[in-house]
Amino acid sequence: MTSSRWRPIYVGIGSNLEQPAVQVSRAMQALAQLAEVVGWMFSRCYTSPPMGPQDQPAFVNAVAGGLTQATAETLLNALQRIEQAAGRTRDGQRWGPRILDLDLLALGQTRQQDAMITVPHPGIGERRFVLAPWSEIAPEFEIPGLGTVARCLISAPGQADVIETAAA
Ligand code: ADP
Ligand code: MG
Repeated sequence: MTSSRWRPIYVGIGSNLEQPAVQVSRAMQALAQLAEVVGWMFSRCYTSPPMGPQDQPAFVNAVAGGLTQATAETLLNALQRIEQAAGRTRDGQRWGPRILDLDLLALGQTRQQDAMITVPHPGIGERRFVLAPWSEIAPEFEIPGLGTVARCLISAPGQADVIETAAA
């Protein structure tokens, strides 16, 4: 189902298994094929230490943005299909290693919270590994309830732990 308004969509891409930079690059190609979204822009890739359990490889992260008329449900389903096609399995470990993680960061000014979906994605206001790539493609985007991406990045903790990395 689609609504009639075009809204910006932002997707967080992350991987720390099986050549993470390759996984991120493939995910960008898969996003570019989605029928529901047009006008994609992609950030560069960033490396950061894992959040939560430390006995796992570093993460490569990037952010993608486009325009869509689709609902959050439709978009999250599409993102989960791409995760599964990349070989993602869910073992239930919170913040554990993953071959591909696609998070729906924001959908225009939509605020939604139900059993399946929380938009904007919780925690993004403090995560430099999301905000640094996001600010490359949409520094002025107003994250509902938080302020602009650029402003959140300035006030996010952990200045040095997210560094730009080579693309695959
Ligand atoms: P996380 O990304 O938080 O480490 P997962 O990728 O395993 O964890 O996602 C856990 C669940 O979060 C998914 O089953 C999905 O339904 C739900 N979820 C809720 N809101 C979002 C969102 N905005 N983006 C991605 N997943 C979401
Ligand atoms: Mg996720």
